[in-house]
Parts: sequence; structure tokens; C-alpha cells
Amino acid sequence: MTVITKSRIWLSSPHMSGREQLYVDEAFKTNWIAPLGPNVTAFEERLEQHLNDEVFVAALSSGTAAIHLGLELLGVSKGDEVLCQSFTFTASANPITYLGATPVFIDSEPETWNINPELLEKAIRSRLDAGVKPKAIIAVHLYGMPYQVAEIKAISEKYQIPVLEDSAEALGSMYHNSQCGTLGDLAILSFNGNKIITTSGGGALICRSTEQKQRAVHLATQARDNAPHYQHSVIGYNYRLSNVLAGIGRGQMEVLDKRIYARRANHAFYKAQLNEIDELEFLPEPEGVYSNRWLTAILTPSYEIREKIRLALEEENIDSRPLWKPLHLQPVFKDHMSFDNGCSEDLFNRGLCLPSGSDLTQENLYHITQVIKSI
Ligand SMILES: *Cc1c(COP(=O)(O)O)cnc(C)c1O
Repeated sequence: MTVITKSRIWLSSPHMSGREQLYVDEAFKTNWIAPLGPNVTAFEERLEQHLNDEVFVAALSSGTAAIHLGLELLGVSKGDEVLCQSFTFTASANPITYLGATPVFIDSEPETWNINPELLEKAIRSRLDAGVKPKAIIAVHLYGMPYQVAEIKAISEKYQIPVLEDSAEALGSMYHNSQCGTLGDLAILSFNGNKIITTSGGGALICRSTEQKQRAVHLATQARDNAPHYQHSVIGYNYRLSNVLAGIGRGQMEVLDKRIYARRANHAFYKAQLNEIDELEFLPEPEGVYSNRWLTAILTPSYEIREKIRLALEEENIDSRPLWKPLHLQPVFKDHMSFDNGCSEDLFNRGLCLPSGSDLTQENLYHITQVIKSI
């Protein structure tokens, strides 16, 4: 069991501004202790302003719930296949199985570490040849780095397969002046405790029309029909965000810019300090791309060196984490189809996420880089 001590340096901690408490208190004072209310509405509006596009945001209980509803809105159902980035957190793919559909995993490309356009197209052709048209594509902006949006969009349009954009880690990232979260046919955000802003637990589905949002909210609130009694024509879920937690989200949105700035500054610090070590690589921002640098990751020359660094950091009570284990290598998905090229497996073996919270001090960062340099 992990004991929370004051001295441990965490990978990515919740970072409150202080104003969150104000909105939470408001919920208590007005007795809006429900999965709807003024904080939910205000939080959604604030997100819509930030995304700065024609979008309609439904605040939900988690990013996973948002993916589940998003796939349902895209028409995914039992027996369907969904093409999913393999190099991601398991929550990107789990909802595919909730719907009785099957994930087909697609490996990454080295420029952004995200879904590989060539492999995606290869997979689509191969499935079409087998007489199966995949129902949706799940593309992820991993660690805040936007995937190759133009290429993925072109493939999506060519084959008429919609994209569900998993922007759980990328709130505040941009692709050619468009905010992540506005780039897919539908998109999701997460406000889990480790994300760039948090509601302790929460998420959002980013819709393209009011009708779509209405349908999402309807499904998220047990799909109750418009009748004085409780009447239901379809199966619904209990997925709406609590008005208490949305209060935390309102306070967090006020400091989102500061949080992005701090995460990017962490990345810049690591890069400046560790630049002299030729064997360490960072993921650069491609032209026209702006990453929120949710987590800073380094690539080491080998698994052995990665482990040496990880264990040395642990020795100093510093949290670090290997990169996501690709889903096509996860025991639970081992029998599923995948189109792989070894890219994500290599990243998994050699990569390490460094502490990246917006509340890290210069002293913390300096300490971390000193430990790495000592290896
Ligand atoms: C966190 C995360 C999710 C899930 O969000 P929750 O709010 O934790 O359910 C989905 N996809 C990715 C890439 C994530 O990092």
C-alpha cells in the first residue's frame, strides 16, 4: 500500500486554486446537491467558451462514460468493430466492449506517438476486404500531444467512418489554432484527479449540435421519456456530473491557462537540464502544434536504463511511470486483432513519464533532474 507522505513527489497531483471551494459552498447553500444545477450549466458554458467553436458540452461523471455515450451516439452496437489507438490508457477501449462491440487495435507513429495513419488505412482496407465495415475510429492525443489530425480526418472522410476524439489528456492543446476537443466527429474530456484540471472525477462529451447534446444528456439521465410518471423507451445510464463536483470544475477552469503554462514550463525545464545527455530524447512539437504537455516523457536508450532511472527516482521517493502499455499487449485484449509495427511496444519499453504536476517547485524539478543525471 502506498502511504501519502508530504515529501513524495507525485507524477500529476490535483492542484486547486482556492476558488473551487466557493462554488462548492454555493451548491451546499442552495442545496443543489444533485447531478444537475447551476454549477453544471456554468461549467459546460465555460468549457464551450474555451473550446471556442460550435460545440455543445455535456458534463458527465467520467471520461470513460463520455466514450461510452459517444460510441453509442455514433451508432456502435453489438457485433460492430471499432478501430482504436493501441498506445493509450485502457479506458479508451473498454467502452467498446460495454456495447458488445470489438476493438481492433492500431499501432502508433513516432512523430506524435499516436495512431498511425498508414496502419489505420491498412486496417480499414483489410477489414473491408473481409466484408466488415468498422463503425468508428478512436484517436487519442496522448500526453497532450495532438495526433496527426489532417491525415486521420482524410481517412475518416474517405471511408466514411467517424472519429471519436479522445482528448482526455489534451484539454488546452491545439492543432493549427483549433482546440483539441473540436477535431473529431465527437470528442471527450476527462477531469479525473490526475488530469490537467480535475473535478476529482468527471468527464465531458463534446457534441456538434444541440440535438446531439440533448440525446447524450437524455441517455446520461436514465433515458426518461417526457411523461409525469417514470417512462422509458430505451436503456439509459446514470452518467451526469454532480453539481457539487462541477463547482470544482468552475474554479479549475479559471486557472486552466496557468496550469497549461506550468506544465509547459516543467517540460522546458527538463529539456534544458537534460539536453546535455545525448541518449535521452523528448517528443518535439511538430509545426503548427501546441501541446499542453500534460506529462513530460523521456525516451531512454534501453529498457535497462529506463528501469535504472525509475528505481533511482523511487529511491528518492519520486513518482515516475513507464509509458502506457499498448492495449494489444494487455492480457485482457491479447486475443483481439491488431495492426502493429512495434512502435508503441518500443516506446513502452524505453519511455518514462516524469513528475509533471502544475504544483511542482523549481526545487522539486532540480532534484529530479539531478537524480537522472546521476545515472
Ligand atoms: C483518463 C483517460 C480516460 C478516462 O477518463 P476517466 O475520467 O478517468 O474515466 C480516457 N482516455 C485517456 C487517454 C485517459 O487518459
